[in-house]
Amino acid sequence: MTAPSLQDRMFDQLRDQRLLDQARVCAGEYLDDSLRRPVAPSAQARAGLQAFREALPEEPASGEDILKLLHGFGAPATLASTGGRYFGFVNGGVLPAALAAKWLADTWDQNAALAIMSPIAAELETVCESWLVDLLQLPAGTAAGFVTGTSTATLCGLATGRNVLLKRLSWDADADGLFGAPPLRVVLGAQAHASVGKALGVLGLGKARVELAPADAQGRMIPEHMPALDDHCLVLAQAGNVNSGAFDDLARIGALAQNAGAWLHVDGAFGLWAAGSARHRHLMRGAELADSWSADAHKTLNAPYDCGIILCRRREALTEALQASASYLLGSGQRDGMHLTLDMSRRARAIELWATLKALGRRGVEDLVDRLCSHAQRFAAGLAAQGFRVLNEVVFNQVLVACATAEATQATLARIQQSGECWCGSAVWNGEPVIRISVCSWASTEDDIDRSVQAFVAARGER
Ligand SMILES: *Cc1c(COP(=O)(O)O)cnc(C)c1O
Repeated sequence: MTAPSLQDRMFDQLRDQRLLDQARVCAGEYLDDSLRRPVAPSAQARAGLQAFREALPEEPASGEDILKLLHGFGAPATLASTGGRYFGFVNGGVLPAALAAKWLADTWDQNAALAIMSPIAAELETVCESWLVDLLQLPAGTAAGFVTGTSTATLCGLATGRNVLLKRLSWDADADGLFGAPPLRVVLGAQAHASVGKALGVLGLGKARVELAPADAQGRMIPEHMPALDDHCLVLAQAGNVNSGAFDDLARIGALAQNAGAWLHVDGAFGLWAAGSARHRHLMRGAELADSWSADAHKTLNAPYDCGIILCRRREALTEALQASASYLLGSGQRDGMHLTLDMSRRARAIELWATLKALGRRGVEDLVDRLCSHAQRFAAGLAAQGFRVLNEVVFNQVLVACATAEATQATLARIQQSGECWCGSAVWNGEPVIRISVCSWASTEDDIDRSVQAFVAARGER
């Protein structure tokens, strides 16, 4: 008898499903542990990553051994960002139903480029699009493209705006590029997110030739001090400053942009979801005046990574900017998602977005947004009561905190990060180093917040 071929072994793995069972058991252990374990990996866990350092193997490995390596040495070297005491960056957790739906969809391994490749992916993109327009209270007919994240969404929005503005000036940027084109102006708040600069660089609009509108103490653009707008302007406003959580005055900026014939894009990576809450919707007043919006479902909404959305008021403008044609890409007259995004082949991320929205419903989104924000308030109040300085108006889910001196702030943050009790990141705010707290996981409880306040106190105490 000859040894079974590699392909035969794979068929065996498919049939007996033991690998999927093994993955399920490992995942279950991880989930059970994730609410209890130290938030940051230990030095020992980091050292364990050596297990992966090997030259490209000559021989195939068994699926069982692969999962053992991941579970044994990979899982311990994760940040426990699915638990309740991870407050780093603006990283959401993951809803159980969305995680399970993603597992299932991963076994389908659908390519969401064209409707003909995956009717279910096309269907759920269509459903998500209409649900998002409803939830976020955007203009009827707004189109959604499903992308990796807000960085890409913003790039898509600005590319579309660039092409539309130039087309109105009788220039076809898609065909002829920017060489010799009428110059566009780009107007940003002084605290626009780093991903915006990246998009402008890639798009040939330049990171450095932007006109900056000064920001107030919360990081909001000051509308009165914005450069005068005209129909050569791409304007970018923020629904949620990545540090303070502050929202630009979208009603004022939207009116200015509309009157001038400028293109307004709103970066709402985590803040756009404020529209789903009666208590926080006022922050989004005027957002419907924009031409395009970007959002991340993997932040506030707690969908799995990577799940970003580009929303554009004019569907044909978005598809004109992003479509690709080839003889084998026959237009189906159905929803072909690739024409609303940069990618061609891509994950069917609308499946887990659909599961996320279905698992929450309108009421669940509101509950989630309100809970994140009230926990941020509780965190800020708890820290202020302990003598920490809270430096921002806590209008959403972000809190910026400092100790008496810059050195004390940095030392305290380093000890918090090592403690494993909770995890927060850093930023520089109005010239001073700060501890940056983002309450972004559905799993955080009031106990988690109170315990984290105690971790701050303990970290500061070890002077
Ligand atoms: C996170 C964030 C981005 C970038 O989003 P990615 O999904 O990481 O690409 C852009 N803008 C703001 C305000 C953000 O919070």
